[in-house]
Amino acid sequence: MTQTQQKILIVEDEPEIRRFLRVSLAEHGYLPLEAAEGELGIAMAASEKPDLIILDLGLPDIDGTEVAQRIREWSAVPIIVLSCRGQETDKVAALDMGADDYLTKPFGVQELLARMRVALRNCAARSDSCYETIFTAGKLRVDISKHLVFVDDVEVHLTPIEYKLLQELIKNAGGLVTQQSLLRNVWGPGYAKEGHYLRVYMGALRRKLEEDPAQPQYLITEPGVGYRLKVN
Ligand code: CA
Repeated sequence: MTQTQQKILIVEDEPEIRRFLRVSLAEHGYLPLEAAEGELGIAMAASEKPDLIILDLGLPDIDGTEVAQRIREWSAVPIIVLSCRGQETDKVAALDMGADDYLTKPFGVQELLARMRVALRNCAARSDSCYETIFTAGKLRVDISKHLVFVDDVEVHLTPIEYKLLQELIKNAGGLVTQQSLLRNVWGPGYAKEGHYLRVYMGALRRKLEEDPAQPQYLITEPGVGYRLKVN
């Protein structure tokens, strides 16, 4: 076998399940990596760039749903969630946060391997790399895993809200994003009608990112509907 082994990161606090996964994955030619806590899992996802992540929802430090959400900010790596019976709402939340699939414990190894093959194939079909962490459009460059923004190679400091707004537009780069979805995803579900927030912060973003904020090149208004991040 000349093919390099695919790295699978196991984020799971129960040692017996970790051992079961480690042995089963190694037997089937994968290279298993392990994290017993969520924060460590996120750090290892960034440093090791695994091909796939198996993520338990019940972790001792942070919720598995939060782990999925934070990894999704900068990576499209396939994530398969492990849930226990009775964690239905958590499972749905994890899928909403960007997990690709789930298995309910106890599960068999063949079922896991089948789900992994599907997730790996889908990821390979989407892009060359599941770790596209730099976004560029013209003179604008955003390092998504480090939350750094540059215009013409000069770093620009954004407030957390400004960054979140830009990030929502980057997730849908080139596409139209409605005012409601921006308000909901940046400020929260109760803010869908607060259109003035959006105008104020979009104005601030344009002053920081656009050469001429009155003639924006990147942050385009779609009157009455929403905004679009233009990628040339
Ligand atoms: Ca657990």
